[in-house]
Amino acid sequence: MKTFEYEAHPSRVIFGAGYLARVADEVRALGVSQAFLVHDPTSAGSAAKVAGDLAASANVRLWDQVAQHVPIDLATPAREAVDAQGSNLVLSIGGGSTTGLAKAIALSHGLPLVAVPTTYAGSEMTPIYGLTGDRHKQTGKSARVLPKTVVYDPLLTLALPAGVTGPSAFNSLAHCVEALYVPGNNPVTSAIALEGVRAISDALPRVMRAPSDVDARSDLLYGAMLGGMALGQTGSGFHHRLCHILGGKFNLVHADAHSVILPHVVAFNAPALPREMSGLADALGMPGGDPATALWDLARDCGIPTDLKSLGLEPEGLDEVVEQILIEEKNNSVPLDRPSVRASSTLLSTGRVRCRLRRAFSKEQEHGRETHPHVPRWEPPATRRPPRCDAWKVQRRGLRRGGLSAQGH
Ligand code: NAD
Repeated sequence: MKTFEYEAHPSRVIFGAGYLARVADEVRALGVSQAFLVHDPTSAGSAAKVAGDLAASANVRLWDQVAQHVPIDLATPAREAVDAQGSNLVLSIGGGSTTGLAKAIALSHGLPLVAVPTTYAGSEMTPIYGLTGDRHKQTGKSARVLPKTVVYDPLLTLALPAGVTGPSAFNSLAHCVEALYVPGNNPVTSAIALEGVRAISDALPRVMRAPSDVDARSDLLYGAMLGGMALGQTGSGFHHRLCHILGGKFNLVHADAHSVILPHVVAFNAPALPREMSGLADALGMPGGDPATALWDLARDCGIPTDLKSLGLEPEGLDEVVEQILIEEKNNSVPLDRPSVRASSTLLSTGRVRCRLRRAFSKEQEHGRETHPHVPRWEPPATRRPPRCDAWKVQRRGLRRGGLSAQGH
């Protein structure tokens, strides 16, 4: 018998190719006279179009000073500009960094937010905000930052480079994966999360093969929306905290950190989560298989970073990361505190956390093998991992880094 609590978030979503043209109507429906439009430089054309569409009904102030993790030094002048304009709505067109700055403004000024995402970060579907100062990213939740309206237009993602597309999709996959077991999980959020995993893992290789395939981009964006919903309606755990620590301390690209860390965290937590891992393996198209390996293979086959060294992180930084994660993460499925870790040989010790981080560093240099040697194979009880189906192999063939660059990314 099921017993649970579920809270839906009240955002209006419109989703469709060409829907950028509907943004002005959505903004007008909120009765706006002064709109503050945050965009990143790659969305300057889209921002200019929306500003033009709104010209007859509202003043639009354009703002393109955005950076990942929302540095306080960038949020402060943006907030001052909002005061100067007397804005009564904030509009964002861009990736998670742009949405993040718009959220910082919505938080401080209590303004309604309309979000038009152009990556797969999923922030537009969450009430989560983040601000970074002193090499530390502070995150929080507030209903004030949940967008009133989200407009998804897959056409805006067609020019997203492979180097952003893949890791950004993994960011969204991580939202889905963690939503399966973090506090706040319930059967509804699991259904959303597993549908997200199915959509992303199916669409990502298609997008990497044919970046301007609108159907594939649309499917991936749909998966990213579900990832954002799953994250927003549950929360985040060990994986996200680790990525935030890495991002805050070393200014790693947020989405890149996700693609490297996710298979490791899945492998780390798998022993405590057989039911969730079984559902995840199904959704990844490998029923009865090992989800950690499936995720690592997906990353590798799509030319996505799979080790921290390639992100520019030096091993010396890891001790600091381990100490910080032990302070910050208290609710992981596999406890990270020292006494309980020591008490059971089935749990990973602090040393093994460090070891796992070190392994994330440079698996290919150390081992030169094709499949990741350090992601432990997880087997569901009483089943053997079936051989991969031919369709899976065929689907993945030709998606290595070389193949991608040949396609002009
Ligand atoms: P991003 O917004 O920094 O974008 C990455 C790069 O892609 C940028 O250079 C950007 O200019 C470019 N870009 C964006 N859209 C493009 C397009 N359509 N075509 C071509 N180039 C494009 O990165 P991101 O991964 O989208 O977002 C990362 C940020 O989002 C991090 O700060 C992360 O913490 C935050 N985030 C927040 C939440 C939340 O719920 N609050 C969820 C996920 C991510």
